[in-house]
Amino acid sequence: MYHFEKNGVQKKIWRCVRFKNKCRGRVHVIGDIDNEKISKKIDHNHVPDIAQIEVKTAINEMKINAKCTSNSTHSLIRSLASQVSASVAGQLPNVPTLKRTVQRVRQSHLGAPINPQNFNFEIPDQFTKTTNGEQFLQFDNKSETNLIKYYT
Ligand SMILES: [Zn+2]
Repeated sequence: MYHFEKNGVQKKIWRCVRFKNKCRGRVHVIGDIDNEKISKKIDHNHVPDIAQIEVKTAINEMKINAKCTSNSTHSLIRSLASQVSASVAGQLPNVPTLKRTVQRVRQSHLGAPINPQNFNFEIPDQFTKTTNGEQFLQFDNKSETNLIKYYT
């Protein structure tokens, strides 16, 4: 598994996540995103860490689900945990960290509505809930006087 290291001249360089453990593993990638080619590869000094790759893959999938579904944070984390094999489950980040990941993905994904110029607006349903799915906007009468109650 590689982490992005730097943009070289017309190439991107990824180095092994274990470079601190003296692994010289690197790949040099040329071409644009749609047509990437590995131009140079330096082998690792260890066997690939399958567990880490499995964890990363599962977390990436959870992030996609956080963006594309309205599943609760709990159910996203539950399906993440059920997806990885038992031997890998212990390497998952803890639940509070996973919750933050889901919330961060969702916050950056949702564009907040622009500030209204008058009271003739409705609040989209997705903004009546907190990031953990609880209803916080209890009452929106959708009239010109728009009484709004917030629960924090
Ligand atoms: Zn390596």
